Amino acid sequence: MTVQQRGLCILGATGSIGHSTLDVIGRHPERYRLVAVSGNRRDAEMLSICQRFRPAYVAMVDLCAAERLQGALAQAGIHDVEVLSGPEALTRIAALPEVDDVMAAIVGAAGLLPTLAAVRAGKRVLLANKECLVMAGSLFMDAVREHQVTLLPIDSEHNAIFQCLPNRSGLRRIILTASGGPFRATPLETLASVTPEQACAHPNWSMGRKISVDSATMMNKGLEVIEAFWLFGMCTDTVDVLIHPQSIVHSMVEYQDGSVLAQMGTPDMRTPIAHALAYPERVSSGVSFLDLAARGPLTFEAPDLNRFPCLSLAYQALRQGCGAPAVLNAANEVAVQAFLDRKMGFLQIPALIEAALAAIASAGAETLEQILALDAETRQYAEGWVRSQGVPVA
Ligand code: NAD
Ligand code: MG
Repeated sequence: MTVQQRGLCILGATGSIGHSTLDVIGRHPERYRLVAVSGNRRDAEMLSICQRFRPAYVAMVDLCAAERLQGALAQAGIHDVEVLSGPEALTRIAALPEVDDVMAAIVGAAGLLPTLAAVRAGKRVLLANKECLVMAGSLFMDAVREHQVTLLPIDSEHNAIFQCLPNRSGLRRIILTASGGPFRATPLETLASVTPEQACAHPNWSMGRKISVDSATMMNKGLEVIEAFWLFGMCTDTVDVLIHPQSIVHSMVEYQDGSVLAQMGTPDMRTPIAHALAYPERVSSGVSFLDLAARGPLTFEAPDLNRFPCLSLAYQALRQGCGAPAVLNAANEVAVQAFLDRKMGFLQIPALIEAALAAIASAGAETLEQILALDAETRQYAEGWVRSQGVPVA
C-alpha cells in the first residue's frame, strides 16, 4: 500500500518527546519527512539530528548555539540545512507551507506562541506542550475551531482518553491515572529535604527535568486536569484523578451505563506519539508489547491531597477561571526552576504557587496580550518570592 508522505515540524526536537518522535519517524521514512526542527541551546545534539534526518530548516532559540551549529554543519559538509535563530524563528517554521503536521514539544510557556502559530496556519497539531492549554485554553481552543485544526493529544493520559472517547454520548466522567511519582510513599516529614536528583528519578517514565519535578509534586496531574477540561470540553467536577503506581492503565472514560473504557500499554511515550503521527491508522512504534501476566498486579488508590497540595491548587485555579491557570502555570515554572537550581526546597513549590494565586489579580485576562502580561507579572512576583523566602537545598 502506498502512503502519502507528510511533512513534519518538531518544536522541541532536542527534548525527551522530540527524541521519541524522531525514533518513531525513523522507523517509517516512507510516511514522514522531517521538514523543520527547533531546539534551544543543545547544538551538539541538533547536529546529530541534522546528520541523520537532513531537515530543510533548523531553528535554535539561542543565537550562540545557532552560530555553533552553523559552523559544525559547514565542517561536516552539510550545506542544505538552513539555520535560523531567535524566538520568531519558531513561529516561522511552525507555519511553513511544506509542513503538514507540527509536534508541539517545547516545555513550558515558551511553547505557546509557536504552537498557536501552527494552529493559525491550519496545521495538524500533535500537542505535548500542555502548558499552552493551561495558560490560554480558551483562546487556544477558539483558534483550533476557527482554523478547523485537527488537534491530537500526545500526553499519554489524554491520548488514552481520546482513544476511549469515540463519541461523547452518555459520557459521565474522565479518570486521569497518575503514578504518584517518586514520593508517593516517602515519609511526609522527609519531603522538605528531598533533592532535585531524587525528584527527577521517576519510577516509570524517562522525561525532561521540568515535567519530572511536576510529576513528583503531582502538579503534572493538576496541569493535566486543566488540559483535559479544555481538550474534551469537561466540567471541573467530571475530571477525576486516580493513583495507579504501575502506569499501565493510561486513563479511563466512564459512561452513564456503567461502562469504563481504559487504554493500556507499556509506559513509553512512543505509543501515543505513533498513534497521533499515523492517525487514524496504526503503525509500529518500537514499544515492547504489554505482557500483563508478567507485569503482576495493577493497583489503584485515591490521591492524598495532604501529600500533593499542588493537585488541589490546580483544581482551585481551574474553578477560579479567567487568568488563574496562567498564574498557576507561571508560578509553577519559576518554582520548579528555583528548586532545580537548589534555591529553594521541594515543599516551597506549592507554597510559592499558593502565594502567587492569592497575590496576583487574574480576573479579566482574556486576550493573548493580557495573558502574556499576566504570565510576566507572575514570573516577576515569583522570582521576588524566591529571593526573599527561598531556603537553599544542599
Ligand atoms: P525536555 O526538557 O526534555 O525538552 C524540552 C524541549 O523544549 C527541548 O527541545 C528544548 O530545547 C526546548 N526548549 C526549552 N526551553 C525553550 C525555550 N525557552 N524556547 C524554545 N524551546 C525551548 O521536555 P520534555 O519532557 O520533552 O517535555 C516537553 C513537553 O511535553 C512539556 O510540555 C511536557 O509537559 C510535555 N510532556 C512530556 C512527556 C514526557 O514523557 N517527556 C509526557 C507528556 C507530556
Ligand atoms: Mg501525562
